[in-house]
Amino acid sequence: MKLRAEVIIVGGGVTGISTAIHLKELGVEDVIILERHFIGSGQSGRAAGIIRGTANHPTVSAAQLEGQMFLHTFESRYGIPIRINKTGYILVGQASEREHIEATIAAASQVGCQSKEITAYEVKELQPGLNTEEGGIYVYEPGGLYVDPMPTVHAFLLAARHLGVRVIEGCEVGDILVRDDNVFGVECAMGVFEVPKVMIATSVWGQPQLAKLGIDVPVCPHIAEMGFFQVPTNSSHRLHRIIFDSRANLYMRPEGEFQLFVGRKEREFVESNGEQIDPDNYRQTANFHSLQEIHQNLQVTLPFMRNGFVHRTYACTYDSTPDDMPILDKAASVGGLYFAIGFSGGGFSSSPWVGKRMATFIAEEAKPGDMDLFNKERFAKGELIRWSNTPTDYN
Ligand SMILES: Cc1cc2nc3c(=O)[nH]c(=O)nc-3n(C[C@H](O)[C@H](O)[C@H](O)COP(=O)(O)OP(=O)(O)OC[C@H]3O[C@@H](n4cnc5c(N)ncnc54)[C@H](O)[C@@H]3O)c2cc1C
Repeated sequence: MKLRAEVIIVGGGVTGISTAIHLKELGVEDVIILERHFIGSGQSGRAAGIIRGTANHPTVSAAQLEGQMFLHTFESRYGIPIRINKTGYILVGQASEREHIEATIAAASQVGCQSKEITAYEVKELQPGLNTEEGGIYVYEPGGLYVDPMPTVHAFLLAARHLGVRVIEGCEVGDILVRDDNVFGVECAMGVFEVPKVMIATSVWGQPQLAKLGIDVPVCPHIAEMGFFQVPTNSSHRLHRIIFDSRANLYMRPEGEFQLFVGRKEREFVESNGEQIDPDNYRQTANFHSLQEIHQNLQVTLPFMRNGFVHRTYACTYDSTPDDMPILDKAASVGGLYFAIGFSGGGFSSSPWVGKRMATFIAEEAKPGDMDLFNKERFAKGELIRWSNTPTDYN
């Protein structure tokens, strides 16, 4: 029997599943996701799951807000509950960053984000124990939320299956087959599928897969380290909000009642000493000195964490681009080949927005206008996207 599909999506993370859901909703009959391991086994299952609309670019902000809305309406649309922790998001900035942060609030508010500057008194009410200083800037977005990533990925999976998407786990894709400059199939563990349209949604693994087809994308694996810190037993303080603090270069969110999930600001990667990181073979925990540094910086934000301790740690790879924004495009040289990679540690929140637009792009063969910002050519043209909440050194 011949294996056939209308669209194959390679990679079963949030990007691929969201696109599959939206393809079905656009009426595409035969959509298959091929995942080499289990669904969510890539970055998607390891994310912090934070979604906040506060960004220094209206399109980026709109994408994140659409992510929030997708989660809020998910149960009513698909009948599958997702547990949402709407704690709000606090941005702590320094006096020298005022101009940039005001521009961030303005850009986000253009698309309906509710973030606004608040006083030191108000921020302490929202997060008792937060270190507030003379000249500090405090921004609050009440709609900021986080979810547990793996159950959320699973909810997406159930919705996709319910809509009729075929999801095949444990099925690694090898070559994408091209004839007369058009995709005509994929080789995978099950054999060869005949298919005219393929989307690569394989994050950090996508760059070599595209390179094999002569498509060069500036996506590079970088290691991100996470620490889970336990509140000291003698402290009555808890973390109640999602916080990003530019003084500490850290973001954090609650992890249950007594723990904090803590990571570094984008661009604060582990040095690779110039060596190419193998996404299938790297150290899976944060190193000791990083954790010490994170703990030190954490006390800048929350002094009560001085006697807190590391509960556990892990490391994961980001699929980084030069501006930390994804590449959502199709191949100029191979008809029927689409890709959405390079999310650089931020693709969970935008996955509903991305999935909807990639699905339209694939099904209707017309690129949605607001998606063009994320084209592959922007790097060669020097048109990087500036979106970060606080000044960030992109070079
Ligand atoms: C520690 C950490 C914290 C994060 N926190 C946040 C956050 O708070 N908010 C946010 O928005 N984003 C966050 N992110 C980023 C977010 O998790 C990712 O951008 C997003 O999950 C990427 O989804 P994806 O589907 O594109 O990729 P992935 O989830 O990595 O999925 C790609 C899949 O492709 C599969 N694959 C690879 N090669 C093949 C092949 N040949 N054949 C078949 N399958 C293949 C892989 O097994 C994998 O499952 C975080 C990331 C990390 C690592």
